Amino acid sequence: MSYTLSEEQEMFRQTLRRFAEEKVAPRVPQMDKEDLFPRDLYEDIARMGIPALFYPSEYGGSDADLLTCCLASEELCRVSTAIGAVLGVGHALFSSCFRISATKEQKDKYFPDVVSGKKLCMFALTEPDAGSDIGSMRSRAVLDGNEYVLNGVKNFNSGMDFADMTLVYAMTDPSAGMKGISTFLVEKGTPGFSISVTGRMMGFRGIHHCESVFEDCRLPRESLIGKEGEGFRDVVKVMDEGRTLSGASGVGTAQGALDYAIRYAKERVQFGKPITEFQAVSHKLADMAIMTETARHLIYRAATVVRDHTKESMKLATMAKCYGTDVAMSVASQAVDILGGYGYSEEYPVERMMRDAKGLQLFEGTNQIQRNAIARTILT
Ligand SMILES: Cc1cc2nc3c(=O)[nH]c(=O)nc-3n(C[C@H](O)[C@H](O)[C@H](O)COP(=O)(O)OP(=O)(O)OC[C@H]3O[C@@H](n4cnc5c(N)ncnc54)[C@H](O)[C@@H]3O)c2cc1C
Repeated sequence: MSYTLSEEQEMFRQTLRRFAEEKVAPRVPQMDKEDLFPRDLYEDIARMGIPALFYPSEYGGSDADLLTCCLASEELCRVSTAIGAVLGVGHALFSSCFRISATKEQKDKYFPDVVSGKKLCMFALTEPDAGSDIGSMRSRAVLDGNEYVLNGVKNFNSGMDFADMTLVYAMTDPSAGMKGISTFLVEKGTPGFSISVTGRMMGFRGIHHCESVFEDCRLPRESLIGKEGEGFRDVVKVMDEGRTLSGASGVGTAQGALDYAIRYAKERVQFGKPITEFQAVSHKLADMAIMTETARHLIYRAATVVRDHTKESMKLATMAKCYGTDVAMSVASQAVDILGGYGYSEEYPVERMMRDAKGLQLFEGTNQIQRNAIARTILT
């Protein structure tokens, strides 16, 4: 099985790197400081065709393979984890959920505006009392005539204030446990659906984390995506793409921290020589490079098989998320060490990278939950 980049993918990476450095990077310090995501920046990202990567060509998308989507996430995260991770995962989850379950009418209705960047769909799964334990969710959707009535509260919903609609998971048959979960698409402005931005997070600044409340929110029957009771089955499938993308976000974050640490260490002079001449520093940089490259290979391999939806592909996607994001945390933290006191200062980007890397370890299922899943696949 080959996961080497084609010439086209290498060129795509270079184009994206230029775009990320020229258009995204200059906006990141202010975005982090003011905790705001400028709409015009999203429009630039859409004009670059990044959302389009995730969607079929008949809707104006470029139907990219997952490896190419990972490259996009990696390059954006190299300069901003918040942008790269949330957009990557948001589009991956929405597009793969629709690919698996939506009707042609649903795709016709929603895909064109999402592909063009006019609209964005986010993801509401977590609840205040149901994070890792999705099966204990309390949100309920009850069919009443031709409408579902949705009640429940979702939290930690990334970018929900910025988005135009969301996938929501709710129990349609609580007695069936996981097999009673269904997926709905809810548009902003639907009566009974409200959003509030919750407290400022440690990282991912610019992308707000919201609480979404559904109070007797009436949805037309065609808001159901897929079949009743198949929501969890679909989450598991779409999460594999999301997890691989999260791993790629980790690699991008690690690469950004490594590149900055190398540049800094070459210029920083102590005891009359650049600190790269101290083996303690150069070996640390070497270890950071080894970890980043190892994670990259795992993620590229996962990306080539994930859409097969086999036990092996599930295992690799889970490893990609777990290892890629652990590497991001470790490399960013070591980059802070290499910058010394400056690394701990907000004037330098590596502390932001470290804060963002922690978010990567937690979202899309914590890395403890990923390890549980990996252990299950290797032990059974
Ligand atoms: C930056 C960020 C963005 C997010 N974006 C979204 C989003 O867009 N949409 C959305 O729906 N959610 C989102 N989340 C929520 C995220 O998916 C949850 O935070 C995560 O699944 C963990 O749930 P929890 O916070 O309730 O922690 P809990 O489930 O309460 O876990 C607490 C601790 O217990 C551990 N733990 C729990 N169960 C087990 C177990 N069985 N074995 C071992 N350890 C266990 C966990 O690993 C963790 O360390 C986001 C979170 C973050 C941090």
